[in-house]
Amino acid sequence: MSLPQLLKSIPHKFKPEEEALLEKAFLFTQAAHAGQKRMSGEDYIVHPLEAVVILGQIFPDATSLAALFLHDVPENTGISIEAIAKEFGPEIAGLVDGVTKLGQVRLRNSTEPQYIETLRKMFIATSKDVRVMLIKLADRLHNIRTLQYLGEDKQKKIATETLEVYAPIAGRLGINAWKDELEDSAFAVVDTEAYSGTKKLLEAELAKKELGIKALQKELSHILKTEGVKFLNISGRTKRVYSLYKKLKKYDSDMEKINDILAVRITTKSTTDCYASLGAIHQHFQPLQGRMKDYIATPKPNGYQSLHTTVFDREGGVFEIQIRTDLMHEEAERGVAAHWFYTQSGKISTQMNTRLNWVNELKNWQEEDQSAEEFMENLKVDFFRDRIFVLTPKGDAKDLPLGATVIDFAFSVHTDLGYYMMGAKVNGKMSKITQTLEHGDVVEILKSKQPVKVSRDWLASAHTGNARSRIKQYLKEQDKGLIARIGKLTNFFQKK
Ligand code: MN
Repeated sequence: MSLPQLLKSIPHKFKPEEEALLEKAFLFTQAAHAGQKRMSGEDYIVHPLEAVVILGQIFPDATSLAALFLHDVPENTGISIEAIAKEFGPEIAGLVDGVTKLGQVRLRNSTEPQYIETLRKMFIATSKDVRVMLIKLADRLHNIRTLQYLGEDKQKKIATETLEVYAPIAGRLGINAWKDELEDSAFAVVDTEAYSGTKKLLEAELAKKELGIKALQKELSHILKTEGVKFLNISGRTKRVYSLYKKLKKYDSDMEKINDILAVRITTKSTTDCYASLGAIHQHFQPLQGRMKDYIATPKPNGYQSLHTTVFDREGGVFEIQIRTDLMHEEAERGVAAHWFYTQSGKISTQMNTRLNWVNELKNWQEEDQSAEEFMENLKVDFFRDRIFVLTPKGDAKDLPLGATVIDFAFSVHTDLGYYMMGAKVNGKMSKITQTLEHGDVVEILKSKQPVKVSRDWLASAHTGNARSRIKQYLKEQDKGLIARIGKLTNFFQKK
């Protein structure tokens, strides 16, 4: 795909200066990755290009798209963030940096619950600017589409991570189009057997109900017309494989209890027409008690709006009907991206992006599955206001208070590492051990063979309780003269 083709595939008219920026980012990226190949054998540039098309569909913001072009440059080429900042300015460089830092949390054993937890936290904290998250999700979506070129182990790891971290976050941002694709594609790899079993069930059920739903659509259209209710479209909506799988688990695999495998979706121009449609439908079809949900008056936490009702059809079966305006439908597909784009009338306010409003909203996270509840437990908003995540060279994230230094980091990794610390590298550069760390820094502690002399000055730069108490303990023992020989020190602390 060429750049002009790409621009055509994005349903948005860019300003001349925006097009110039996209072209510059494209050419820069192409040159930077020159000669590199994807596992598919294609030129590397295909990946950022395709990812830009994905993001452009829901969020055609030139700044974010330029950053998405550049997102793999620091990691995969010799070009630094500083060089990108020089060429494209601090805003784009900041976005690229955020995405790069997220990528540095390495895939280890991703079935380990703590790892997923860390990754989620890291994801949220790094993505205070929601554009970082949108860029990372578009990147992941293209990676999922091209997963078959990777080895089996890697496929499983990426798919698990996608199912447990990326898809829920897409859902939380209200981007259902992305959530659905991420979930089903990842599920097919994570649990191939369950996937194909559920898919078969779904297809059998669809075959049974297809005719009924077509007849129902026709009848609904007739009813709305004769009642004088204005509507735009009536269509069928099929439940996704993963979503059915989760529901079946909840209902002891009883297919009879699942009423929304096939749903009818009605779109209207106005909210008034939504309620008018609902009224007309209930006059002609018996609604199932307790199944009416008004997500227009009370939207879901991720912003989802729609009226849901379940009615008995002529054959005694039940069908779910979803009624929404075309704008609500658009927002259900594009989530936060659509909302911001429209409310800012094509302009994205930086204020809105840099503050983490949406993290506040996470308080309302209401997912049915337990892991999401546990997730919330650990997502106290205050937690992120004053915490940073710092990485070991292997990509383990350490969570530290804001203002933490290299000393705090060293003691958080291991007590011994603190006592043997003779220096440190932050993001590959030599630095003082008193240096204050920033979110996403990669810190390598240089270890001496012998315990070093811990100085009283360290206390001034130690902010965590853990580091302070370890240092004080050392100084106390030293004052007591208990450690005449330096070798005994090791012994002493090993006993602790
Ligand atoms: Mn990438």
